[in-house]
Amino acid sequence: METIAGYFNSIPSTHRALILVGGITIFWLIENAFPLFRFRYHKFRHAGVNIVFTLTTVVVNFILAFALVLTSRWVVENKTGILQWLPGLPLWAEFLIGLILLDFVGAWLIHWIQHKVKWMWKFHLVHHTDTYVDTTTANRHHPGESVFRFAFTMLAVLVTGAPMWLVFAYQSISVLLSQFNHANIRLPASLDRILSLVIVTPNMHHVHHHYRQPYTDTNYGNIFSFWDRLFGTFATVDQHSLVYGVDTHMSKEENSRIGNLFKIPFQKYRTPSGKS
Ligand SMILES: [Zn+2]
Ligand SMILES: [Zn+2]
Repeated sequence: METIAGYFNSIPSTHRALILVGGITIFWLIENAFPLFRFRYHKFRHAGVNIVFTLTTVVVNFILAFALVLTSRWVVENKTGILQWLPGLPLWAEFLIGLILLDFVGAWLIHWIQHKVKWMWKFHLVHHTDTYVDTTTANRHHPGESVFRFAFTMLAVLVTGAPMWLVFAYQSISVLLSQFNHANIRLPASLDRILSLVIVTPNMHHVHHHYRQPYTDTNYGNIFSFWDRLFGTFATVDQHSLVYGVDTHMSKEENSRIGNLFKIPFQKYRTPSGKS
């Protein structure tokens, strides 16, 4: 555990990039072997759009990374945040508690807020407009959304009192879990049932990408599935009845052209049917 902490404490940027690219490659191969849907789509063209947004996400996070490092250094030096107030924890317990808290504030909470606040929804909408959800959808985030998410990761570090190794370990696990739970793969029902007691599985996150309410407003989780069970936002749907996208943006011109996707947050808000 100490070796792992030491590794993440000084993880080189190239290794972080490798985790991102390696994850996409592995899940891409599994998608080809065990697909849930046999989409009739141009897989490379579809990936191209999502990779543009993945790159903008990487750039935003790279530019702002120094603020995260400073925040983490500050909480440790000033003994601020939950982990700092619980001295003497074994490293594995620090890791587990930290991961659970970072996942709640840095992912579940900001995701839920983005579904409730209309102007934020217009940024997050870009993620939901994908009508062919696969592993490349994981980082399809408008740069504006990447900024909100970054701000909440900082807040999460403050609340958690997370040292830097924990923040980097969390970010790496978060990227891989997101690529996994977006992947277009078919998991045996029994395996899904067991896994989804703890982590967010593809079956669980796919429901969140159904084009109509109330399903869009369920299953907000990224790493751990218990937040949705706890807050009553957990839902299941027969996977084969799923239709991906958002009912307000089902035309190809709007949901698959990069130029329009960048502009969506600045266009007029459209109310999804079934939402007040
Ligand atoms: Zn969402
Ligand atoms: Zn998603």
